[in-house]
Amino acid sequence: MAATEVVAALRAARRITTICHENPDADTLGAATALRLVAERLGITAEVVSGDPVPPFLAFMPRVGEVRTAPGLEPDVAVVVDGPLERTGSVARDCGDWLARATVINIDHHVSNTRDDALALVDPAAAATCEIVALLLPDLGVELDAELATCLLAGIVQDTHTFVHPNATPRTLRVAASLVEAGADLHAINRAIYADKPYATLALWGRMLAGMGERRAGRIVHAAMTLAMLDQTGAAPTAAEGFVDLLGITKAAMVNVLFKEQGPAEVRVSVRTVDPVDAVAITSVFGGGGHARAAGCTITEPLDVARDRVLAECERELNRADARRR
Ligand code: 5GP
Ligand code: MN
Repeated sequence: MAATEVVAALRAARRITTICHENPDADTLGAATALRLVAERLGITAEVVSGDPVPPFLAFMPRVGEVRTAPGLEPDVAVVVDGPLERTGSVARDCGDWLARATVINIDHHVSNTRDDALALVDPAAAATCEIVALLLPDLGVELDAELATCLLAGIVQDTHTFVHPNATPRTLRVAASLVEAGADLHAINRAIYADKPYATLALWGRMLAGMGERRAGRIVHAAMTLAMLDQTGAAPTAAEGFVDLLGITKAAMVNVLFKEQGPAEVRVSVRTVDPVDAVAITSVFGGGGHARAAGCTITEPLDVARDRVLAECERELNRADARRR
């Protein structure tokens, strides 16, 4: 679907609900909130829905206090941002009735998004869904202001790790420059997302680092956050966010994997890779998805079982990547 069709559908709407993916990050919240603000500027009633709560480190984002956990409108247009409808968790599960009556638009930058939805605007060349939304603004006829720019820059900062991941392109930087010009505070956003950590978070990271492991001469590096570590340190479950990037700083690492124990038989897995190792090839085996360099999945097995299965898959993908390079 072309951007012009999305713009036309948004402008023709009477009530818009924008929907975040589960475990919302700055990109999904930023894009959803920005589209809500855009709709309101156009005189359209709008709301943002996230089935899961806003993590505390994103409390600085504009209007996140107004994000609803369930929809209050009966919208004629629903916009799912930064993932397919299946990734909206409780919203997809509980709101099938009104979703079936609404026009559902999907705006996303995940390469794993298969675009089978007729109203999908998927641009894998965009570093963030917020980059796509920013590029729609001129056609929507809405001018940037500081609030809108802060929403959008937060998403780009989180998805590019403040412009250092390879997904940050010249276009990303140009979009970001326009957002800073419009009043977004890059320094404050970076600090809120990547620093400003509680002491308990560093205590947790210390235990996670102490327990890390490697395979294949350090080309695979992995670590785990266990529920016991949360108990010992008093850290919140979201405190492991960002740790996987720390694993990636060793020179040899081609695959970094973080296991986050959620319960006796549930583990969230984050995978980060170096070109040409494909993170989606690893997580899709377990029903997950994401991007070539950053992907995730959830495994309903105890931590030890999940770790063995995922690391075996990492070794297989490393073999394939080595073969591709030969
Ligand atoms: P993270 O490791 O930070 O949770 O996720 C890395 C990337 O993979 C993000 O872009 C996220 O949207 C995507 N991702 C994480 N988990 C899943 C999943 O279970 N399914 C799909 N389709 N994508 C995921
Ligand atoms: Mn994103």
